[in-house]
Amino acid sequence: MDERLTNFRGVIRNSSTSGDRFQSIVIGSGPGGSLTACLLAEAGHKVLLVEEGPYVRQEEVGSYSIKEMETKYRDGGLTVALGPTTVSYVEGRCVGGGSEINSGLYHRTPLEVLDRWRHEYKIDSFDDADLIPHFEACERDLRVSLMPGPAPASSLKLNEGASRLGWKSMEVPRWYRYDAPHNRAPSQGVRQSMTRTFIPRALAAGCELISDTRVSKLHRRGTRWSVGMKTRRLDGSANSYAIEADNIFVCGGATQTPALLRRSGIKKNIGNSLRLHPTVKVIARFSTPIQSNQTMVPVHQVREFAPRFAFGGSISTPAHFALSLLDHPGGVEQMTRDWRCFGAYYAMISGDGEGSVRHVPGLPSPLVHYKVSDTDLATLSDALLHLCRLLFAAGAVELYPSVVGMGPFRTVDELEQWPAVLPRRETRLMTIHMTSTCPMGENRALCATDSFGRVFDRPQLYVADASLLCTQPGVNPQGSIMAIVRRNVQAFLGQV
Ligand SMILES: Cc1cc2nc3c(=O)[nH]c(=O)nc-3n(C[C@H](O)[C@H](O)[C@H](O)COP(=O)(O)OP(=O)(O)OC[C@H]3O[C@@H](n4cnc5c(N)ncnc54)[C@H](O)[C@@H]3O)c2cc1C
Repeated sequence: MDERLTNFRGVIRNSSTSGDRFQSIVIGSGPGGSLTACLLAEAGHKVLLVEEGPYVRQEEVGSYSIKEMETKYRDGGLTVALGPTTVSYVEGRCVGGGSEINSGLYHRTPLEVLDRWRHEYKIDSFDDADLIPHFEACERDLRVSLMPGPAPASSLKLNEGASRLGWKSMEVPRWYRYDAPHNRAPSQGVRQSMTRTFIPRALAAGCELISDTRVSKLHRRGTRWSVGMKTRRLDGSANSYAIEADNIFVCGGATQTPALLRRSGIKKNIGNSLRLHPTVKVIARFSTPIQSNQTMVPVHQVREFAPRFAFGGSISTPAHFALSLLDHPGGVEQMTRDWRCFGAYYAMISGDGEGSVRHVPGLPSPLVHYKVSDTDLATLSDALLHLCRLLFAAGAVELYPSVVGMGPFRTVDELEQWPAVLPRRETRLMTIHMTSTCPMGENRALCATDSFGRVFDRPQLYVADASLLCTQPGVNPQGSIMAIVRRNVQAFLGQV
């Protein structure tokens, strides 16, 4: 099946595709889009899956490398949400979307979060019992499991620090397969991204896929939708054309889905309620090496203080350290000498801030705005302080927080003068979890779609991605996105 994808690379179906009639067009091939296309195709629908980014085989580009950022990240990873405190964010832009670049850490949506969404947003048929079969199916299909061997040393440091302080820490299961054929490093496993799971299944069931093709606009024509597309040819030129379909599933992710809908004139409750997990990093130096030749992201998280905040580990390569140490020139020098002794860690909050996504006529990228609240800056301060204490308890000898003018800290006593609130402009926040720009439910004051992702007052138009989540889930979101999308597509197909 991977063979089909290999052959597909570089084959751009434009003029031959133009004029075809599809029952459904799925826009965007991340976890939401790939799962949608697969379920529709397996139910016998004629489906076209359209992806703006390129198809890049997983083994072609090193995980967590700069090359990966150039080829698979939107704008090479240089994307920001503007506001009084800037939040940098990254998103996938390739066949498979974010699933091709993420860490694979899996959580079900916490029950109290589902409960809150059900009541505030008035979501029908959204009891735990409605969702559990979908979590279970996704866990099976993605082979969600714990690592068969020991976790990386940088991950064990989190666990060590937490247990010394009496805090709860857990190894988070991931969508990795350890018994895959031709897997040269069985202990590390193979990430079960969309190009390894739902996309090959969708293609085997007859779904067609066009990569390097951006959907520019949607028009309603009689009883069908016309989808305006622009395909980049291999010689760099572009071809614009339109394809019609009965049903449209918009799965471009939490920033691109509202941008596409808004530039198509569909705006009610769309792009007004961006949520994210504001995250602050700290780079820790230990006295002995904690990084090996193989870049691996920590699999432990400390959820002792959840839902207020949680800690985990980030990508730890010299390039990523250098970026995080921009405000600590002394740290860069030290890191260049002994980078294997360094680890990147984060404190993540749910936050009560909110943002927006707006299409700007003439510009390809939407304007993303997010306002970090004063309460969030206080919570982040508390979270960062606890994380620093944990890292010292784990044996760190130097800590560099991503806050201009703060640190480096070399002893736990130096943490005593800690600010109650992080400084608004000097704090470098980031996020990899964007959600909630088209919330679902029957509460028409808040929601863009009904309880099953149908855009209000727009026949045969559906959203099926991170945008549907009513708020940020407080945990890594892909598990929530996939369970909800699976539930909604089955409802569309009349299977529930
Ligand atoms: C570095 C990183 C690490 C992460 N780690 C984890 C993790 O460990 N666990 C977890 O649960 N989550 C993680 N996430 C988050 C997770 O990957 C995302 O929440 C998830 O991928 C969102 O899925 P989606 O289908 O909504 O959209 P996306 O995955 O963003 O996919 C949308 C796709 O649609 C395409 N597209 C957009 N607009 C158009 C258009 N107009 N025309 C055609 N195509 C379009 C995009 O190019 C993209 O490929 C991580 C994210 C990142 C970036």
